[in-house]
Amino acid sequence: MSAQPQPPCAAETDPVGFGPLPRRATRQVRIGGVAVGGRAPVVVQSMTNTDTADVAATARQVAELWRAGSELVRVTVNNPESAAAVPRIVERLAMQGVEVPIIGDFHYNGHQLLEREPACAEALAKYRINPGNVGFGRKKDVQFAQLIEFAIRYGKPVRIGANWGSLDQALAAGLMDENARRAEPWDAGRVLREALIRSALDSAERAVELGLGRDRIVLSAKVSGVQELVAVYRDLARRSDFALHLGLTEAGIGSKGIVASSAALAVLLQEGIGDTIRISLTPEPGASRTKEVVVAQELLQTMGLRAFTPMVTACPGCGRTTSEFFQELAGVVQEHVRAKMPEWRITHPGAETMTVAVMGCVVNGPGESRHANIGISLPGTGEAPSAPVFVDGRKTVTLRGERIASEFVALVDEYVDRTWGRRADA
Ligand code: SF4
Repeated sequence: MSAQPQPPCAAETDPVGFGPLPRRATRQVRIGGVAVGGRAPVVVQSMTNTDTADVAATARQVAELWRAGSELVRVTVNNPESAAAVPRIVERLAMQGVEVPIIGDFHYNGHQLLEREPACAEALAKYRINPGNVGFGRKKDVQFAQLIEFAIRYGKPVRIGANWGSLDQALAAGLMDENARRAEPWDAGRVLREALIRSALDSAERAVELGLGRDRIVLSAKVSGVQELVAVYRDLARRSDFALHLGLTEAGIGSKGIVASSAALAVLLQEGIGDTIRISLTPEPGASRTKEVVVAQELLQTMGLRAFTPMVTACPGCGRTTSEFFQELAGVVQEHVRAKMPEWRITHPGAETMTVAVMGCVVNGPGESRHANIGISLPGTGEAPSAPVFVDGRKTVTLRGERIASEFVALVDEYVDRTWGRRADA
C-alpha cells in the first residue's frame, strides 16, 4: 500500500492513521506570537546554558535553538547584568530575523530585577516563577505578589513552575503534619507529590486573585522520576484546566536522559496531557544544545502529534548485511532532509511529513520501502549488487554502482519537488 503525503501538522492531524489522539481541554495562553494550550499543537521549547549577561553568546545560542526548531526559548535572569542584557539580546535577535519569544527564568530576586530593569520586563514574552524559590518566610507572599503585578502591568503570561528540587518547605511540612493526623496516613512520596501539586495550584489561584487572567498562566510541576512525573501530571490535569508545561527535570545525560524523558512524556501525551514540552538533557561535553530540541521534535513526530522534518526509517542491520554502506546512507539522508527542511518549510510546505526508508537487505527492504513515500532496499551480503527504489509503493528504478547515495538523495529531492513544490507555486 502506498503512503500518501499528509497535511501539515496540527493537534487534530492523524499522521499515523490511528485517529487523532485525545487532547485535554485547556485554556490557551499566548506567549509572544505562540499559542500554548487549547487546540494548539504541542509547542517545543528549550533553555540556554550561556551566561545571559553575555549578549553575543546568548543571542547566538538562542538563534541556534530557534533554527533547530525551538518555538520558545528560556534564559536565566539571575542578576542585574543578565536582566540588563535581555532587551539587548531580544534586539539583536530581531535584527537577525529571529522572532522567537524569550522567557525569563527567575528565582529569589525576580521582583527586584523586574523593578530595576523595566526594559527587561517589557522584552520578555513570559516570566517563569518557581513558587518554591520566590522568597522566604513572610516575604514569600509579598514577593510572589510583586512578580504577578509585574506580569499584569506588562501584559505578560507566567509559568508557575514548581520543582521537586525546590519544593516549598513550609507547605510540605504543613502537609506532613496534616497527614500524620489522618486515620490512614499516606506514604511520604504521596505527601510530597501532593505538596508539589498544591504549590503549583495554590500559587496559580493566588495569581488569579491578584488579577492575572487564567489565560495568562501555564503550570508545571517537575520531578526527576518517570513514574512520579506521570502521577503528578495526571493529578494536575484532573484538578485544573490550566495549560501544562511538561518536562522531566534533571533527566540526565545521553541516552538515559532521552529515554527517561521520552518514557514519561509519551505516557502523558498519549493521554492528551501536555501543551508544551521541554526535554531537560544534560549536554555531552562539547555537544550542541540543540539536541534537546531534536529529541522533543522526534518525540512528538514519532507519536504522530506533529511533523517537523521527514522521518527516515532504517533497519538496524544484522548479519545479512555486512557492509556499513546502508548505515552511512541512512545517516546521509537523515542529515540531508534535516538540513533542507528550513528551506522546504517555505518552498515546499508539507515536506516535513515525508517518510523515507533505507533498508539493508531483501528480507524487509522492499516491504518497508513500499510503506514509505520513498524507499531504497540495498543489497545484503551475497545479493545482487542492485538497489531497487520504491516511490509511493511502486518500484520505479534500480540503482547500481558507486553513485547510489547521491542518486538516491537526488530522487528524494525530486520527490519533494514533485509532491509539495506545486503547493508553493499555487
Ligand atoms: S532488513 Fe535485512 S539487513 Fe536489515 S535488519 Fe532486516 S534482515 Fe537485517
